[in-house]
Amino acid sequence: MPAQTRANRPSLDAYWMPFTANRQFKAAPRLLVAAEGMHYTSEDGRRVLDGTAGLWCVNAGHGRRRIAAAVEHQLATLDYAPSFQMGHPIAFAFAERLGAIAPGGLDRVFFTGSGSESVDTALKIALAYQRAIGQGTRTRLIGRERGYHGVGFGGISVGGLVNNRRAFPLLPGTDHLRHTHDLARNAFVKGQPEHGADLADDLERLVALHGAETIAAVIVEPVAGSTGVLVPPKGYLERLREIATRHGILLIFDEVITGFGRLGAPFATDFFGVTPDLVTTAKGLTNGTIPMGAVFASRAVHDALMTGPENAIELFHGYTYSGHPVACAAGLATLDVYEEEGLLTRAAALQDHWHEAMHVLRGAPHVIDIRTIGLVAGIELAPRAGAPGSRAHAVFVDCFEKGLLIRVTGDVIALSPPLITERAQIDAMASMLGDALARAA
Ligand code: PLP
Repeated sequence: MPAQTRANRPSLDAYWMPFTANRQFKAAPRLLVAAEGMHYTSEDGRRVLDGTAGLWCVNAGHGRRRIAAAVEHQLATLDYAPSFQMGHPIAFAFAERLGAIAPGGLDRVFFTGSGSESVDTALKIALAYQRAIGQGTRTRLIGRERGYHGVGFGGISVGGLVNNRRAFPLLPGTDHLRHTHDLARNAFVKGQPEHGADLADDLERLVALHGAETIAAVIVEPVAGSTGVLVPPKGYLERLREIATRHGILLIFDEVITGFGRLGAPFATDFFGVTPDLVTTAKGLTNGTIPMGAVFASRAVHDALMTGPENAIELFHGYTYSGHPVACAAGLATLDVYEEEGLLTRAAALQDHWHEAMHVLRGAPHVIDIRTIGLVAGIELAPRAGAPGSRAHAVFVDCFEKGLLIRVTGDVIALSPPLITERAQIDAMASMLGDALARAA
């Protein structure tokens, strides 16, 4: 195939782009045509430093030959095999490898095709579990304001972002904890903020309102990413765990972003030392190469469902692509790379440098908060009057044109580079972003 350039660009009309202002984008497109290591190449031949690991997923950096070779080999050996009442060895091998590093020892693994599918799977497992242990009145699912749990009907129902919810009917029987964002008390914090552990008591409020016997599970992102990087206050997750346990409510951590080394430990579960009952993952599971997700379940949850006659299907749930052999091959090779290069803990070594580099932007024009943890930063800008989000979007476009990929949600800029990043590249991100902020109106 000839190199993709502006001259041979395809028509942009047919592709309905996800989470994109389609008409604005197509009037001034930003196209990426190649990637290697820490950089993308844009359609016009520029190198663009990847400040976001794609969409929080390319943790080992781009163009990993080992993953490509494993995928090629698997495609040529066993391209697809069904997983319903049939199996293929590589899915079992991958689940076992994952079990060995499982968050909090949750070593029973259900494969899905994405983060959204992982979330809906975990919610359904929670409901099935409660029913299996004789708690069938527990059908309510609790999420949190500003939470993002993908785009399935389960995920948007427990999610807390209004734009993702307002056009759609939602699951009945959901409710939401208050979010933990508190600029007045917790601005410009490195790591976990001091104030707000008591916000976990909101679960007590919902128990008092609905009755514990109606609540199956509560789902939160340990560090909320897509809502603009919200770091849990010290003690918050511990308290949530304690209250959930006391009331027989399952705790689900959505680690689609935090899984696979983002915080400097393999999972946020390990980083915070708080063990939920179910963990949802995707993204970094295959280094973003082949779509795949996985739900990690405790043995207690798993075993409670392994009952009834042996010829009965225990959980009426699964996807055509659950345990897809090519995705499993990509995942196994990804784990090899992570383990050989120490990437699941590398963010811990970079953490201090990251904090310092990002917090240099304190005092840059428009910046009202900076939040950093692991290799994640949220840089919140003051919104333009009457046009929320437009300032951050302008910074995003400017950065891209100058050679840095950042991500924005509302007026929060999020950075989450591949875990292979060098310190000099972190400095470059901060400096390029600082220049863009200085130019921003
Ligand atoms: N959960 C969280 C915490 C996420 O950040 C995301 C995606 O960003 C999802 C779920 C949905 O994942 P996917 O886009 O793979 O469906």
